[in-house]
Amino acid sequence: MNILVINCGSSSCKFQLFDVDKGIVLAKGNADRIGIDGKLSYKPAGKDEIEKEVSLPDHKVAVKLVLAQLTDPETGVISDVSEIAAVGHRVLHGGKYYSESVIVNDDVKKVIRDCFDLGPLHNPANLIGIEACEAALPAGTPQVAVFDTAFHQTMPPKAYMYALPYEYYEKYSIRRYGFHGTSHRYVSKRAAEFLGLDTKGLKMITCHLGNGSSFAAVKDGKCVDTSMGLTPLAGICMGTRTGDIDPAIVPFIQKREGKTAEEMDTLMNKKSGVLGVSGVGSDFRDLAKAAGEGNERAQLALDMFVYQGQKIIGSYAAAMGGVDVIVFTAGIGENTWNIREQMIAPLEFMGAKIDPAKNTGIRSEAVISADDSKVKIVVIPTNEELAIAQETQALI
Ligand code: AMP
Repeated sequence: MNILVINCGSSSCKFQLFDVDKGIVLAKGNADRIGIDGKLSYKPAGKDEIEKEVSLPDHKVAVKLVLAQLTDPETGVISDVSEIAAVGHRVLHGGKYYSESVIVNDDVKKVIRDCFDLGPLHNPANLIGIEACEAALPAGTPQVAVFDTAFHQTMPPKAYMYALPYEYYEKYSIRRYGFHGTSHRYVSKRAAEFLGLDTKGLKMITCHLGNGSSFAAVKDGKCVDTSMGLTPLAGICMGTRTGDIDPAIVPFIQKREGKTAEEMDTLMNKKSGVLGVSGVGSDFRDLAKAAGEGNERAQLALDMFVYQGQKIIGSYAAAMGGVDVIVFTAGIGENTWNIREQMIAPLEFMGAKIDPAKNTGIRSEAVISADDSKVKIVVIPTNEELAIAQETQALI
């Protein structure tokens, strides 16, 4: 069965076509710079990547072009669009409405629209992507919405409520939602399978460390807390995002610097995090290089990232009354052995100990805890697109 996975951003449409029965990617690519000029990159499995300038005035044209490319007589991987059994769409925000993926109908579209306020950059593009696929594919081809927030919907109110006047929760649905849910769901499930453990009674902490980073406390296979909040700005400091700061800092800077709310939003989302602290960049490889050459602010940014991560792991262990498994994933979590080592180092008191030899040179799923570590520590590469394809297949 072929499932197309679509991830529409404000100016891009990333895609992967899976043969889910064989568990392989047939082709992937990105229709980028939508509404600007247009660039299509396309990589059929086992063949060279193709890049070309194209005209992409809107998402509808982009989706049509993606389908034309997939069915191209020379470089395509299917002969007709009817060979696509369903489309799985990554959707940022499902608000409080969905804890699982759903087949798209008018009610689902209304919810995605109602959540525009909560995900202003992503939800409108996600909906456009869904409607463009509906228009371009044979009638009745199922479209499935896979929400970044869904996995976290099992959190109890004490974990998702903010201590603001209750009316703001009622009026504007202001609460913690959490993000990277598809990744946290996928790696927590995979880690249990990989370790041969039943999720019942299992206490797990999943650490998705990438350009955006988030943590989830997962008990009995269900999320009970997570570090991102109403938006993906909360939690640990990230590539360019502040993470948690004293909220009083916002009006303080606004008053002193005469900044508007939008300018503050940009400052906290795009100019802060390890980029803001180091002045070097947001990529952890650049930071590590600069720190190695003696750049003190790059080292400080790395130390802050590690320290904040340790505190979240410790607090989630406290919240669950212990932890059995810690999972590292995403760009940094999968590739940066010394961040993993440093983040876990002071947690030996609670039975978490890394084996330095197992922790280096990892290429795929691996146990990195020491034999005498009470807590199993594993690296599980995340694969959000495959998870979306699998959830889509399961639903249809
Ligand atoms: P992601 O958002 O999951 O793509 O992760 C992006 C982050 O992962 C960047 O900060 C990169 O520096 C880091 N990263 C990705 N690949 C590697 C690698 N091979 N070695 C070290 N860091 C990496």
